[in-house]
Amino acid sequence: MRAYGPVPSRRLGRSLGINHIPPKICTYSCVYCQLGRTIEMRTKRREFYPPEEIVGEVEEQVDKARERDERIDYLTFVPDGEPTLDINIGREIELLKPLGIKIAVISNASLMWREDVREDLMGADWVSMKVDAVTEKLWRRVNRPHGALEHEAILDGMREFADAFEGELATETMLIQGLNDGGEEAERIAEFLAELGPDKAYVAIPTRPPAESWVRPAAEGAINRAYQIFEGKLGHVEYLIGYEGNAFAFTGNVEDDLLSITSVHPMREEGVNALLSKAGSDWGAVERLIEERRLIQLEFRGKRFYMRRLPSRVGP
Ligand code: SF4
Repeated sequence: MRAYGPVPSRRLGRSLGINHIPPKICTYSCVYCQLGRTIEMRTKRREFYPPEEIVGEVEEQVDKARERDERIDYLTFVPDGEPTLDINIGREIELLKPLGIKIAVISNASLMWREDVREDLMGADWVSMKVDAVTEKLWRRVNRPHGALEHEAILDGMREFADAFEGELATETMLIQGLNDGGEEAERIAEFLAELGPDKAYVAIPTRPPAESWVRPAAEGAINRAYQIFEGKLGHVEYLIGYEGNAFAFTGNVEDDLLSITSVHPMREEGVNALLSKAGSDWGAVERLIEERRLIQLEFRGKRFYMRRLPSRVGP
């Protein structure tokens, strides 16, 4: 199926997925990739399917959803590989516009050094770029890029794209234990992200079985540290840690609300207190959640934070 959904997505609401690249063709072979190791590494763009076929399948899926009265917030290019390898993505975006639905692309940004790729993505409404490391050595270890790719050129391409893009820009940083989860790299990434000025910077961990079985998600302390460092330089930071939390929907049940908010971002002690008093509850709720191992207390730069505890493991 080259068009599927709409499926719920925390970042994009109800998203209709477009899988316009056969599995698994990518410029990277990330150690954490949930699709397994890359089968075909390439950097040269090409046609995979005729654009009219892709667009036809999306239109069909949109029609079906509309018949069922299902809302679609985004048409999202999220294939089994790197979407900008498709030389027709710009044309596909143009052909999809008459549907009147916003268009999103989730890219690893490795081809942003190419002017044609940047131009193609200008037509989208929402673009996410992957920034797992800005130290070249770490980039090589985490993303395992194709040998022809040059790291500096990619970072420059991202800067150029971010400068010119008028849609909503997101970045995604996947934190792997013992690789890119250190404080120094978080500082360097945050500085680079500040240059890009994304509307939202996501801090993520692998939540599905990774390509390499030794991969472990960063621990809560490292995730919180990265969050605080990013937040200090950027604002608009959110977690993607495997829970579909919603920081803005209050259920009235204070424990559920605490878990929901802290799955999106850590809460300071003051924030927790404010929520508890608004709900007419007390600190006992927090203690219960900590005891049940659903919430975790962390310290960073002398302040106390609360974060939803991560799933105990990823993988089969
Ligand atoms: S860029 Fe995405 S699809 Fe490619 S290897 Fe990395 S995680 Fe997998």
